Amino acid sequence: MDVIVIGGGASGLVAAIKMREAGANVTIIEKNNKLGKKLLVTGNGHCNFWNKNQDINKYHSNDMDIFKEIYEAKNKEVLDFFDKLGIVYKEINGYYYPYSMQASSILRVLEVKIQKLGINVVLGETVKKISKSTIFQIVTDSNTYICDKVVMAVGSKAGIREGGSYSLVEDLGHTLIQVSPSLVQLVGKDNYYKDWAGVRSEAKLKLIQGAEVIKEEAGEVQFTDYGISGICVFNLSGIVARSLALEKELVVEINLVSWFKGSKSEFEKWLDNRALEFKNYGIEEMLEGFLNYKLIKVILKLLKIKEDAKYQDIDKKGLVDMLWSFKFRVKNTKDFSNAQVCSGGVRLTEVNPKTLESLKVKGLYLCGEVLDVDGDCGGYNLGFAWISGMIVGEHIND
Ligand SMILES: Cc1cc2nc3c(=O)[nH]c(=O)nc-3n(C[C@H](O)[C@H](O)[C@H](O)COP(=O)(O)OP(=O)(O)OC[C@H]3O[C@@H](n4cnc5c(N)ncnc54)[C@H](O)[C@@H]3O)c2cc1C
Repeated sequence: MDVIVIGGGASGLVAAIKMREAGANVTIIEKNNKLGKKLLVTGNGHCNFWNKNQDINKYHSNDMDIFKEIYEAKNKEVLDFFDKLGIVYKEINGYYYPYSMQASSILRVLEVKIQKLGINVVLGETVKKISKSTIFQIVTDSNTYICDKVVMAVGSKAGIREGGSYSLVEDLGHTLIQVSPSLVQLVGKDNYYKDWAGVRSEAKLKLIQGAEVIKEEAGEVQFTDYGISGICVFNLSGIVARSLALEKELVVEINLVSWFKGSKSEFEKWLDNRALEFKNYGIEEMLEGFLNYKLIKVILKLLKIKEDAKYQDIDKKGLVDMLWSFKFRVKNTKDFSNAQVCSGGVRLTEVNPKTLESLKVKGLYLCGEVLDVDGDCGGYNLGFAWISGMIVGEHIND
């Protein structure tokens, strides 16, 4: 049986290896002049390829029941797969990296296996059209290929300036859940962001829609001239993108004093005591011991408080509210080229969860990010690429 894998990225490489091991003649067609280009930039070049704390709640899809079935079939086999390829790994706070801390180690073990298994690799050709009669015909910008089965492992348009191959699957009759950038920075609606640009601060975040808290995160927030960034912000961004698509108003409440162990009213008392202790200090001087000076300036400007005003003379409630739950009004996410992944993609209802074969076109299989699954930061997205690639590879003969 001849199989063509379109896309030599994370999921396509794993699918190709598994299919060849199952006896298929496999050809990978990759539009770049190198396999796994995106893999090399993952985890800032270190490749955070898996996470110890595997948890279905770290993943997002419009069809979570179907996703659960897919995920549970293979998630226990991922580390074993890499172990057999020879990868020694390092765990840092639950995040798994190759021990070398080089993404190239992950790519090389996959490439070596592909070479040893005799998998054909075609580089520098972009698939433009797929059609099916009894067999598949694959047309690239320079050649035409025929095969019995096709694996669509084309990824998403995250992290690239242009492209995405969604039209290939749409032409074959699949429908898409709206594709939006995810694991991406948030752009705000206000005009003071230049004043806090460059600040990094630990914080707790709540994503609020109306009166409802949709998701909470904690970690280092990077304050930028367009809004906010950082892993904890990225982890809110998938839901933000989905909600904005539905024209929902969103606010991220930022607790800037997340180090304080206690309630808001206890924090207010703590601040009162601090004011007594530093009674000759202006408000700016009083805040400086626990808040970055740029954030102090933004807060005082928004509250219209003079820097040398005394604590007892100011709008105390306004100050406590801002420190406890600073309201960042969300305008948008940054665009696809800034995103690590995309939310949305081919509906999971359109594939067989046991094999990932298309329910629209027999002999067509889909894996990786082209499907409507995205994960939080922490190795979950590559995690899904490996899991889905394995499933396709192991069921190609079904
Ligand atoms: C900057 C960045 C950092 C990231 N860091 C992490 C991380 O640390 N941990 C993590 O889990 N995830 C990370 N991700 C996400 C992760 O890289 C992806 O989720 C994963 O690579 C998806 O695998 P895939 O096989 O679906 O797609 P890809 O790996 O993107 O592979 C798809 C391949 O298909 C090729 N292709 C597309 N269309 C065509 C066509 N028409 N013809 C031929 N070839 C085509 C593409 O060139 C590409 O090589 C990161 C992403 C980015 C952008």
